[in-house]
Amino acid sequence: MPADSLTLSQPRPGKLSLLGLPAANLVEFFENIDEKPYRARQIMRWLYQRYVTDYGEMTDLSSPLRKQLAEMTSLALPPVLKREHSDDGTRKWLLDVGANQAIETVYIPEPDRGTLCISSQAGCALDCAFCATGYQGFNRNLTSAEILGQVVLASRELAPAKITNVVFMGMGEPLANYRNVLPVVHLLLDDQAFGLSRRRVTISTAGVVPHILKLATDCNVALAVSLHAPTDELRDRLVPINRVHPIAELLEACWKYAEGQASRSITFEYVLLDGVNDSVAHARQLLKLLRHKPAKVNLIPFNAFPESEFRCSPQPVIDAFWQTLRNGGLIATVRRPRGDDIAAACGQLAGRVRDRQRVRLGDRVIGASSS
Ligand code: SAH
Repeated sequence: MPADSLTLSQPRPGKLSLLGLPAANLVEFFENIDEKPYRARQIMRWLYQRYVTDYGEMTDLSSPLRKQLAEMTSLALPPVLKREHSDDGTRKWLLDVGANQAIETVYIPEPDRGTLCISSQAGCALDCAFCATGYQGFNRNLTSAEILGQVVLASRELAPAKITNVVFMGMGEPLANYRNVLPVVHLLLDDQAFGLSRRRVTISTAGVVPHILKLATDCNVALAVSLHAPTDELRDRLVPINRVHPIAELLEACWKYAEGQASRSITFEYVLLDGVNDSVAHARQLLKLLRHKPAKVNLIPFNAFPESEFRCSPQPVIDAFWQTLRNGGLIATVRRPRGDDIAAACGQLAGRVRDRQRVRLGDRVIGASSS
């Protein structure tokens, strides 16, 4: 069935969702309905360790309580519009988040781990020049329930395979939806929920500096930064938020972040665009910025999407870029594209959108500076 013919539902009338609710708020909720606080733990075990979202199956709750919860609250997961399987084992879900908006979630199996790549917004306002999500414009922030719901849904469908790592590298800018992302991160780490270690949860950001600094104190998980250019002149064009938070300010925040992380380094993502940011001179400039710092570089061969104006750098150019970084003493890896046959690779996630408003940071920044 062609994706365009999928019918997207309208927004659902809201009941309080217990999914994604911080543990303390869940305790408070049960106290407010005159139930024991340990009910919170019971519900969390059902939701996040057994992936059960039907109160009817929660056999250690009394049936009047189950009925009351079903009347007052919701555990609904975003409905699945489409499931796709890549030849390399990658899986992708297209999920309905109402009002003609859909988001994508991707699972990438590797011999030693299983990584779930989740979305934090329907669309994205940051307007990075080479990204399919940015091209679609921005619709809205996802709720904590919609963000964590992706992990619950995928965990259930993948069992007995386990999700060992979660990366916020799907659609959207997680640090532009800080309020809803933070409770999700806490639940991913909470032993009574998913119990992942800090190094197995990665927030990827295009550089929302104030929230990088906030995250450093709130929850010091692994950080990936989408750098993509070694000079402000070039980065202003490729990653427009650079016009608000330029490279020096961004890196200063990164080194502060790294101080709280013991021996862990920050990952700098760098998408290689043919003839744009991929020369040996660029690699040397990048080296200057990052050498002797707690940094490693993840080079991402550009993944094309229908409207993109860029091309992927040829393999010898990728090799030379990588070699220059390595010779300079920087740890660098080249990311192997996964799931590209089902458009699940980095930057190809566009969801399915109708009428998504084109709110684009790039336009606003340009508008502000020219007026
Ligand atoms: N907004 C966040 C997370 C989403 S994108 C961020 O910017 O980090 C996850 C990664 O994929 C980012 O490094 C992003 O720059 C990269 N990316 C986006 N479009 C791409 C494309 N077409 N090819 C390869 N990587 C891309």
